Amino acid sequence: GMPTIPPPVLAPRRTTRQLRVGAVGVGSDHPVSVQSMTTTVTADINSTLQQIAELTASGCDIVRVACPSQDDADALPAIARKSQIPVIADIHFQPKYVFAAIEAGCAAVRVNPGNIKKFDDKVKEIAQAARDHGTPIRIGVNAGSLDPRLLAKHGKATPEALVESALWEAGLFAEHDFHDIKISVKHNDPVVMVRAYELLAESCDYPLHLGVTEAGPAFQGTIKSAVAFGALLRQGIGDTIRVSLSAPPVEEIKVGTQILQSLNLRPRKLEIVSCPSCGRAQVDVYKLADEVTAGLDGLEVPLRVAVMGCVVNGPGEAREADLGVASGNGKGQIFVKGKVIKTVPEHKIVETLIEEAMRIAEEMDGDPS
Ligand code: SF4
Repeated sequence: GMPTIPPPVLAPRRTTRQLRVGAVGVGSDHPVSVQSMTTTVTADINSTLQQIAELTASGCDIVRVACPSQDDADALPAIARKSQIPVIADIHFQPKYVFAAIEAGCAAVRVNPGNIKKFDDKVKEIAQAARDHGTPIRIGVNAGSLDPRLLAKHGKATPEALVESALWEAGLFAEHDFHDIKISVKHNDPVVMVRAYELLAESCDYPLHLGVTEAGPAFQGTIKSAVAFGALLRQGIGDTIRVSLSAPPVEEIKVGTQILQSLNLRPRKLEIVSCPSCGRAQVDVYKLADEVTAGLDGLEVPLRVAVMGCVVNGPGEAREADLGVASGNGKGQIFVKGKVIKTVPEHKIVETLIEEAMRIAEEMDGDPS
């Protein structure tokens, strides 16, 4: 059966309003969900659905698609209907696409109050259409497209400016008694972003969508997002997350999922406990760790595999893991659940670990408890 998740070291989730994005519950009663956004031309329905299928397979909970043209808007009904996961339409500039997306059956619509002209005048109609279709709205404020009025008032995209923009729009929806809202206040600087979300969390009870916008290429973006989400989730803030990387969207899902697993907000799956290597190593630890990681990619069971370079910490870590190797003298001692089951020559370490991992995974899958 499912492994029990060890208790997180996090504050309890901030209590929020609840909403549903399609089949996915969003808010403090629900697990934190992971989102990404397609990079295909939305109007190319087959390519977009193909990418959504890849995202779904990699664990994406909710997907967002851009809608910059009428052709894209026209594609939304088919995409919303055929996607296996809820589809959010991402609308900038053109209020007419908000209505198109709602009517297309999208699970939610993201609007950017900073760059939809006369947005405030449209709120009544949008609230009406969204209510009629049961479609939640994400108010997505972004530092790069902050409402010009607030930019003038605050001088730049400060945390206060981002929050003021979001709360202003939420307030307009609230005037029409529409509260099916989640909010994001993204900034590319994790320090500004964390402060903005802290302020926002104090000022409303809407669920929050976390993102460090334009976080950069995979390495930098992963770190910025992990640090910022960690600081917020530690305080119980955050209901959905999106890691923005200049990299394929499946990578965003991997990183987002790993962040949640690292915080025990999701059950951990495969975990490689490998040492950094040092002058004592008697084996190429990097290569060994990479080969084991590659060999076990996609394994869907919670398995800790220790890959250790020598006998100092090796046997200890390998014993704590489900499976492990402690290397030395051209050989590897293979541990399973704390016991040395065999010693193999160095060139057999990877294949032995993978064999054993597969065997344990099969046992776990068949375990009726
Ligand atoms: Fe160095 Fe051994 Fe520790 Fe690896 S396990 S870092 S090789 S002392």
